[in-house]
Amino acid sequence: MLFGALEAGGTKMICAIGDENGNILHKTSFPTEDTAVTMPKIINYFKDKSIEALGIGCFGPIDVNPKSSTYGFITTTPKIAWRNYDIVGDFKKTLNVPIGFDTDVNGSVLGEVTFGCAKDLDCVVYITIGTGVGVGVFLNGQLLHGMLHPEAGHMLMRVREDDIYSGKCPYHGSCLEGLAAGPAIEERWGSKAIELKDNHNVWELEAYYIGQAITNFIYIYSPQKIILGGGVMHQMQLFPLIRDKVKQLNSNYINTKELLNLDTYIVPSSLNDDQGIMGAIELGKKAYYEDI
Ligand code: ADP
Ligand code: ZN
Repeated sequence: MLFGALEAGGTKMICAIGDENGNILHKTSFPTEDTAVTMPKIINYFKDKSIEALGIGCFGPIDVNPKSSTYGFITTTPKIAWRNYDIVGDFKKTLNVPIGFDTDVNGSVLGEVTFGCAKDLDCVVYITIGTGVGVGVFLNGQLLHGMLHPEAGHMLMRVREDDIYSGKCPYHGSCLEGLAAGPAIEERWGSKAIELKDNHNVWELEAYYIGQAITNFIYIYSPQKIILGGGVMHQMQLFPLIRDKVKQLNSNYINTKELLNLDTYIVPSSLNDDQGIMGAIELGKKAYYEDI
């Protein structure tokens, strides 16, 4: 059985065909331009591929409440052409298959719990640190939505005393994304993150913020594993720095077996940057069996 998978991102649209075991049989991508330019290319890609369902992990904010009149819409995105856009509706009309729809980061956490390093766990947090910061939450065996869906990349932060950077988020200034996403690193330090790889101060400060966010997640969701992905997390030296920061901030307040072994608790994504698209395959598969 074949499923279509779309990882809809702000810069590119990754399209793939996969089977029920998460194997990616074909994959391509298109740049994210206006809907009128990009949507026909995506539809055309899936049209003759005999897919049984389509799963979409989408940049947001989006409406994932099936009872809402704007279910399946991309809502208040700063990308004008995609604002208030009925993406699920347009695919339904043209492809006529069940469609699973969730945030890109919920897609990634679903990929990891279904096919990756978080198999058999029922409470997992996935954080991507890239152009923005996004957080997907799998809680008690389900993707967390609530009122909208978590927007925890915008959690408010305690700024380190010596950090004079005001933060890049247009809404909050010094939220996690405003302080720690790739563009914030570049603006604060004056070079692209990848070019700063030997500057220890950069990663020490980065770990200060990511470790703070993770400590909050530990106390709020009590996750069994925390997975970090996205371009910035390719800097593997961050992992030990982040684990040290979490250990220091927790100050032995809680002492679980997971926290005693942070090397297997705070981990890189395990699916070679395919966690999002593999999660989208699973979203499609779920939609097929639930016929939505
Ligand atoms: P997106 O978030 O747009 O899907 P990425 O996850 O690749 O894409 O994130 C892009 C951001 O990550 C950019 O700000 C870029 O500077 C940064 N980045 C990409 N690759 C690396 C790397 N190897 N090391 C450090 N930063 C990186
Ligand atoms: Zn913000």
